[in-house]
Amino acid sequence: MVEKKSSHRKKFNCQEYCNRIMANHFGELNVASRKGAKKIAWCTSVGPAELLRAMGFLVFFPENHGALLGATRMATDLIPYATAIGYSPDICSYLTSDIGSYICKQTPLTSAYNIKSVPKPDVLVFNTNQCRDVQDWFGWYSRNMNIPLLGIHTPRGIEKIEKREVFDVSKQIQNLIPELEKILGKKFDMDYFKETIELSRQSSVLWRKCLESASALPSPWTFFDATIHMGPAVVARGTKDAVEYYKVLLKELNERVNKGIAAVDNEKHRIYWDGMPIWGKLNSLSSHFSLHRTCVVASTYCNSWIFDQLDHIDPFDSMARAYTELFIVRNEKYKEAYIKDCFEKYRFDGIIFHDSKTCPNNSNNRYGLPGRISQRLGIPELTINGDLNDLRCYSEEQTKTNIEAFIEQLDET
Ligand code: SF4
Repeated sequence: MVEKKSSHRKKFNCQEYCNRIMANHFGELNVASRKGAKKIAWCTSVGPAELLRAMGFLVFFPENHGALLGATRMATDLIPYATAIGYSPDICSYLTSDIGSYICKQTPLTSAYNIKSVPKPDVLVFNTNQCRDVQDWFGWYSRNMNIPLLGIHTPRGIEKIEKREVFDVSKQIQNLIPELEKILGKKFDMDYFKETIELSRQSSVLWRKCLESASALPSPWTFFDATIHMGPAVVARGTKDAVEYYKVLLKELNERVNKGIAAVDNEKHRIYWDGMPIWGKLNSLSSHFSLHRTCVVASTYCNSWIFDQLDHIDPFDSMARAYTELFIVRNEKYKEAYIKDCFEKYRFDGIIFHDSKTCPNNSNNRYGLPGRISQRLGIPELTINGDLNDLRCYSEEQTKTNIEAFIEQLDET
């Protein structure tokens, strides 16, 4: 049996700062929604947020709301309301829990920020770079609230992003502008757009450095910490707030590295997590790994908010490139090479694939990748079954038993 030792997540000094950024984000949206002072755009998490922000919209991310529904475990109770109106329990559980939340008029924003309801949109903007579900998700709101729906359609399953793909997506981004101008009643300002792109690039560079600090032995933080601290990278990218926040977080991480402060005491094993988080079980899984002296050091998920290809000199094409070169857009050959690069950087000794029942798009175990990776890198792999939000698809007991057996296997290698 592996040695067990009581361990808890080590809180970051900048946690309150992170909480403040999130509270300000939702607070500002709430005021705008109630008073109509500013127009609000709902945007997919890897959608054209910089453009929307630069044009003067406040930006709300339904996936972020979906993650909150998962983390607060409200999702499992709300999903059946979407199922009852014809949305399959097999499709994205962000979608079904979010629509359920809307139908039931319940939101985790109420208990967290004293906000009664999600901010009402003036426009809905998606990018299918991650999946088709986002289009159908926003389509429901468009029909039900009679709100304009705009979108970018990105080719998927590709290895190398060619100029033609960048050109196509870049044109689609530019084509949004006249529609958005009509909704806003004001003209697009190129200078402000370039400034926003530059701020987003800066925060991305810092976020990458934060994530890469986990290459240190021992790692100063875990995947579970990063899922919390990535909030500003999602909701505040393109703002000075995000840049300042990641300077502070990076400093704290570097201090931990310099002092040899480990996220997991007596770190013995290092794991790579592929796929979606299981939002309702972050604490429980984090503790479980810690108890077994195992640090989940890196993940494809948290890396998905690195957009350091952004370049204010070439804002549209660089934005198209940044949002098309994502891991989720690529084919298996690219994904295999990507994980190999991560292996060399983070020196993990095992990899866990989360087969998330309702998100085939971010479950990379389904076409033989775990076996190929395991063979190529010479490390064991484990696939666990679960879901991002629907805890009916997750067995805690079974998963923890499987993880323990996997760690025992790592002990023996
Ligand atoms: S990528 Fe997965 S979790 Fe994200 S919106 Fe699409 S189906 Fe849902």
